[in-house]
Amino acid sequence: MDIDRHFLEMALEEAEKALEENTYPVGSVIVDEHFNLIAKGRNRVHPSQDITAHAEIEAIRNAGSAMFDAKIKNKKFTLYSSLEPCPMCTGGILFAKIQRVVWLLNDDEGFGGYKRLRDTSIFLEKFDRIEVMEEPFEDLKQRQMILMNSWKTNINNVTSLRNNLS
Ligand SMILES: [Zn+2]
Repeated sequence: MDIDRHFLEMALEEAEKALEENTYPVGSVIVDEHFNLIAKGRNRVHPSQDITAHAEIEAIRNAGSAMFDAKIKNKKFTLYSSLEPCPMCTGGILFAKIQRVVWLLNDDEGFGGYKRLRDTSIFLEKFDRIEVMEEPFEDLKQRQMILMNSWKTNINNVTSLRNNLS
């Protein structure tokens, strides 16, 4: 079985759990250079009322000292995400010195930030060290798209929350 597919499916399962918890359907998984699972994370923004609790940041936090050690020793960790990382998570990826990033679905219309930041040519020497794979599996991409569409009508979607104010 394709190892990337295996971990992207795991990230997708986290995204599904997030949606069940009525928050943004994004999941993330970190593995080491031998593809051992290091940490998982999923969006917790709504359950925790924490704006910064994005899946990728959660996974980096959950990786704890393993992530710190990888940064110091320049180990090749991979971060998988069900969605293209936003600007904040892209920053986290750079700080963690994660060397490979794989995501299921681009987020050009939303808060997708990885490609936009990279394309500005800022921090280019940092981005140049990272290998990226975007949207490698069409069927899994479709599953994430379905989750994103379900989110649009979720009770906790910001549009729904604002409508309930009036
Ligand atoms: Zn993010």
